[in-house]
Amino acid sequence: VMGIDHLRDPRLNKGLAFTLEERQALGIHGLQPARFKSQEEQLELCRISIERYQEDLNKYLYLTELHDRNEKLFFRLLSENIERLMPIVYTPTVGLACQKFGLIYRRPRGLFITINDVGHCFDVLKNWPEPNVRAIVVTDGERILGLGDLGACGMGIPVGKLALYTALAGIPPHQCLPIVLDTGTNNEKLLEDPLYVGLRQKRVTGKLYDDFIDEFMEGVVKRYGQNTLIQFEDFGNHNAFRFLDRYRDNYCTFNDDIQGTASVAVSGLIASKRVTGKKISDNRFVFLGAGEAAIGIADLCVKAMESEGISQEEARSKIWMVDIDGLLAKDRPEGHLEGHKAYYAKDHAPVKDFAQVVNEIKPSILIGASAAAGAFTPEILKAMASFNERPIIFALSNPTSKAECTAEQAYVNTEGRCIFSSGSPFPPVKFGDKVFQPGQGNNAYIFPGVSLGVILGGIHHIREELFLIAAECVANNVTEEDLAKGSLYPPLSVIKECSMQIAIKILDYAYQERIASVYPEPKDKRAYIESHQYNYNYEPSLPITWQWPTAKYIKT
Ligand code: NAP
Ligand code: MN
Repeated sequence: VMGIDHLRDPRLNKGLAFTLEERQALGIHGLQPARFKSQEEQLELCRISIERYQEDLNKYLYLTELHDRNEKLFFRLLSENIERLMPIVYTPTVGLACQKFGLIYRRPRGLFITINDVGHCFDVLKNWPEPNVRAIVVTDGERILGLGDLGACGMGIPVGKLALYTALAGIPPHQCLPIVLDTGTNNEKLLEDPLYVGLRQKRVTGKLYDDFIDEFMEGVVKRYGQNTLIQFEDFGNHNAFRFLDRYRDNYCTFNDDIQGTASVAVSGLIASKRVTGKKISDNRFVFLGAGEAAIGIADLCVKAMESEGISQEEARSKIWMVDIDGLLAKDRPEGHLEGHKAYYAKDHAPVKDFAQVVNEIKPSILIGASAAAGAFTPEILKAMASFNERPIIFALSNPTSKAECTAEQAYVNTEGRCIFSSGSPFPPVKFGDKVFQPGQGNNAYIFPGVSLGVILGGIHHIREELFLIAAECVANNVTEEDLAKGSLYPPLSVIKECSMQIAIKILDYAYQERIASVYPEPKDKRAYIESHQYNYNYEPSLPITWQWPTAKYIKT
């Protein structure tokens, strides 16, 4: 390492926080102005700097630049300002960043493996400069948030998710690897966009695509070992379920859109018991959407209801789902009841109209995960308020522009009686003399902590139970004040503690069930976890030195 590298390498750089001794010893003295700053003073400047940008995308670019310049400062800023900055590095702004990826791409962060590299996945993986990757977030960009196929521009998602691994769970950044598998895009606009940076071809499908994903999974194990966690993110619906089934018992993997979403939604429902006084199984559910998120939630709700003591069959009977063809009814003319949809198909006449479904079923819980913006109309919301004292309304579609309704619409149309949460954040809503601050049913409560526990326990396969454990941990952190404000989730500011508790509970479970592979079992799990977490405070840049005792040899 040359002196100047201490300023150019984001992992070594401390900017004006280098001491006089460090500046002199490292050969960077004079390359910076005379001032010495503490990291706290630098953070204050960052907070001022970011607010100078009006547009969220520019705030995103500022943070990207900081990430590239001074890693510890970036992660400390992020983890100490989660409420303010999470909407920038994650939904909703990350969606915009993906849409503009060709425009804003500056320098590499993450790995692109293309379908042209078939047979050489391992060779591409070898080019990643870090030897000790523990976690990968991978997408093929086919379904980015609710925005559809963004091809290689989807890289923003794994980058953003892994930034949260570090900021919210303390997983060291050099252990995290974002990957895009570029198999083309079917987005005509991108294919014609001169700024598009991915492969300019239609998506490859079928055996060639499947073999490519297989090769990728094998390549990861060969390069980084079988304990490498692989989080699937924003794959198209059909592939997401297939790959989860195919890989979950053969690799260390989960799908955040299916399982992470399920966990955060069920966590909200566990917390809602304290408001409604009902068990989860006392409810009737209507879902708009029967895709990755909705089916994932429905399946985990069934598990949660089973643990309340009812049968799987009975639990499924309480869940009614609506997809693009209308109610999942056993003999609807369109069919399309493949996969898990079949579990929820009812003996009921086909109904196309969503409002009609709601009016007929009279659910107590309405969950939207359809990316159908505005689908929870005032009429539907009013109907929910007419059936229930405290209707539960989840509008989970991301980004904000895709939400089934806004927080304000939900409160206004239910006389302020609904229990609302959304996937992307909404500002507080004033209603009468009350101010509601609805919670965000955000996977970020779940996946960083689950991954932390899985990595540190050396867990080989990720059981569904881990997501129920995580849901309960998050619900346990909801206070009476949170509920009074209308939130089923703890404030984002306690997310780091949620991650820690999730990881501890997962380790407890893993050792009890003998699925941990790190021995001996740590006596103090919190201390064990802390000892492996990233330190975002500066450390000395000079090697440690020490004195020897004076020689004691006496000549006789
Ligand atoms: P997906 O697998 O493509 O599923 C979308 C589902 O919605 C499909 O079942 C689709 O019907 C249905 N649908 C689409 N348009 C509809 C319409 N107009 N009326 C009725 N149903 C309609 O996508 P996903 O992964 O579930 O994601 C869906 C949304 O949830 C996205 O906006 C995503 O950002 C959001 N999400 C939020 C969170 C979170 O906040 N925690 C987590 C994950 C995902 P067909 O099955 O008939 O095609
Ligand atoms: Mn996702």
